[in-house]
Amino acid sequence: MTRSTIPVFDGHNDALLSAHPAGRGRDIVQKGEEGHFDVPRAMEGGFAGGLFAIYVPAEAKTDSFRITTTENGWEVDYANPLSFDYASSFTNASIDLLTDAIARSEGKLRLVTTVEEYEEARRAEAIAAVLHFEGAEAIDPGLESLDKYYERGLRSLGIVWSRPNAFGFGVPFKFPSSPDTGPGLTPEGIQLVKRCNELGILIDLSHLNEQGFWDVEKTSNAPLVASHSAVHALTPTARNLTDRQLDAIKASGGIVGANFSVSDIRADARDDTDTPIADLVRHISYMVERMGIEHVGFGSDFDGAHIPAAIKDASGLQRIIEALEHAGFSSAEINKIAHENWLRVLKVTWG
Ligand code: ZN
Repeated sequence: MTRSTIPVFDGHNDALLSAHPAGRGRDIVQKGEEGHFDVPRAMEGGFAGGLFAIYVPAEAKTDSFRITTTENGWEVDYANPLSFDYASSFTNASIDLLTDAIARSEGKLRLVTTVEEYEEARRAEAIAAVLHFEGAEAIDPGLESLDKYYERGLRSLGIVWSRPNAFGFGVPFKFPSSPDTGPGLTPEGIQLVKRCNELGILIDLSHLNEQGFWDVEKTSNAPLVASHSAVHALTPTARNLTDRQLDAIKASGGIVGANFSVSDIRADARDDTDTPIADLVRHISYMVERMGIEHVGFGSDFDGAHIPAAIKDASGLQRIIEALEHAGFSSAEINKIAHENWLRVLKVTWG
């Protein structure tokens, strides 16, 4: 028996970093073998659309991502802040890369800024790219550039990556660890949340520490969103969400995009791709039980993390759908997780 492909909306990918010379410098329009996302492989997997992150890597080559083994886990050196000028030029170059990929895609990749545009892209069988920043370093504290990026299509913003900036403090990579690792948002961070609400820019809580999370929860009038996160009760990395955080996301009508990153979904938090899809299903099932079916989606972290070898890349998305079927989810439930929940949240947030 063959079933039709279920379309997937994905909360997070780093394909634009993969396309940048500072990443792999690879073509994300033509089919390749490297990395996780390119247009042909995404189409094969039923990837209908997603948040396309602009992640700005460390400025100095000496700021490497160094992992240290601890007595019962691991930790990574807390990353240094980025300068505004460097972050701005990297961000603009990454937007240009997306524009270029869209232009070369023969209509198969589109920038979307509204749910109507998303639906048009679906009808045209094009992949819908939502522009997202993973960290607000390219935004000036006076927020003038926020409006300019909005004009260029920005519709989703992570206040921080796992480093400090003018607006807040990212959670360090650490296992095991509480997400409560530092202070909350700065006064500029609170203003940023309010301005995103006014403009209708989604605010992403993934990579934010717990104090910052609660500051957004108190300030924002939009559904709370963690674009690529997993469950702290199952895998206690600092990046994952506690039950209280999951409850707050549910109460706001928001969503968690379940992260595929193996070090965030394995019980032992090892960075080992020999990880069954069942580990991802375990996190999704926990979230569904805790928050209800309406508040769970996908957040692959394609090209930003190691994912289970059985998924391999964007072409393997339907293997997760099959695993959810085997776990007993109905097709109505799977459609909610795969795309409907994300679309509901985007509609409410963008207005
Ligand atoms: Zn990330």
